[in-house]
Amino acid sequence: MIAWSAPSVPVLPGPADRAVVRLRDASGLLKESAEGPSATLYVCGITPYDSTHLGHAATYLAFDVLRRAWLDAGLQVQHASNVTDVDDPLLDRATATGVDWRDLAADQTARFFQDMTALQVLPPDTYLAVSETVPQVAEVVAALLAAGAAYQVPADDIAGPGDVYADLSLDPAFGSVFCSAAGLDDATMRALFAERGGDPDRPGKRHPLDPLLWRAERPGEPAWDAAALGRGRPGWHVECAVIAAAGLGPVVDVQGGGRDLVFPHHEMSTSHARLLGTTVRVQAHAGLVAYAGHKMSKSRGNLVFVRTLLADGADPAALRLALHAHHYRADWEWTDDQLVAAHQRLARWRAAVARPSAAPAEPLLATVRAALADDLDTPAALAAIDAWTQADGTDQTAPGLVRTLTDALMGIEL
Ligand code: ZN
Repeated sequence: MIAWSAPSVPVLPGPADRAVVRLRDASGLLKESAEGPSATLYVCGITPYDSTHLGHAATYLAFDVLRRAWLDAGLQVQHASNVTDVDDPLLDRATATGVDWRDLAADQTARFFQDMTALQVLPPDTYLAVSETVPQVAEVVAALLAAGAAYQVPADDIAGPGDVYADLSLDPAFGSVFCSAAGLDDATMRALFAERGGDPDRPGKRHPLDPLLWRAERPGEPAWDAAALGRGRPGWHVECAVIAAAGLGPVVDVQGGGRDLVFPHHEMSTSHARLLGTTVRVQAHAGLVAYAGHKMSKSRGNLVFVRTLLADGADPAALRLALHAHHYRADWEWTDDQLVAAHQRLARWRAAVARPSAAPAEPLLATVRAALADDLDTPAALAAIDAWTQADGTDQTAPGLVRTLTDALMGIEL
């Protein structure tokens, strides 16, 4: 799949050996995000059945800042992502609205591209929809089956060998990264698994948490031929493991996503990745965004869409500022006055860089780089820029450097 077009990223001056971002990963430890000279990033993509809400945008902007910091540090960056264009929520929505699932996915993916383009998000280098990777996923699932790491469960409603599940008991590291760190007990894991697309009560499974790798064809559902498996479609978690390996090779420096993906999605996809020989070094998760008292969710209907705010006249740069005013790992609640404040901040910044001279900007650049290197501390970066705008000086190059700084590191054009 061809991603949206890339915004240009200006190059900032400075020392060649700049600090590489450290991220606090799911285990709670602060880790080097890349070991250089290259860096690989996998960010879980959208399920294209509804528009981009602010929770999605906050996640993609967080990892966009990581990419920009990596580029600024001189790293060779490879970024892969997926589009889950074959999955139950999308198929359910297509059925409910009488739309072909392919048309729904194409329409919502195009809308997502428009939102990401408006927000100056750098597109992934490898961008694959599930519908484009079925043969690769089927090959991996068949190999896991042949190796005894997966098993088939006959289904009551269809003939044939049935669905394929991963046998998690064969992965001793399962649960070691997230579940133990998060203190999730077995009952909580089962509840989350059921809530987030899993099927703990499916009869015939060896363990309730074993995840679906391949769903055999059901009437009315999309399906592809896969010799060893029979016709069907991929499960959710395995697609990310396969696409990450295809795009990034054996080492994924950072796997990112919203924190609601920690379990089961990242725990399961990391387990599959281990079986494929992929190492995920750092797991980083963005906090959850609430509105009107609750986490934004489709089921609750309290979504604030990027495209709605833009259509109502929001400046995309102000929207970025509103989201970067929160630390990416924090949970926070959107209120309309935050966008008003972000527009005011943007106006102050634009007035400051329109001055013929200002206070020197090199110290500001060093401060912003240090803030971003410290677990992507965008609120600290914004505060440092605020302080610069309030100082006077005679440096005629400073306004231009600050303009380049906000563009290069945060995708904000002043
Ligand atoms: Zn994923």
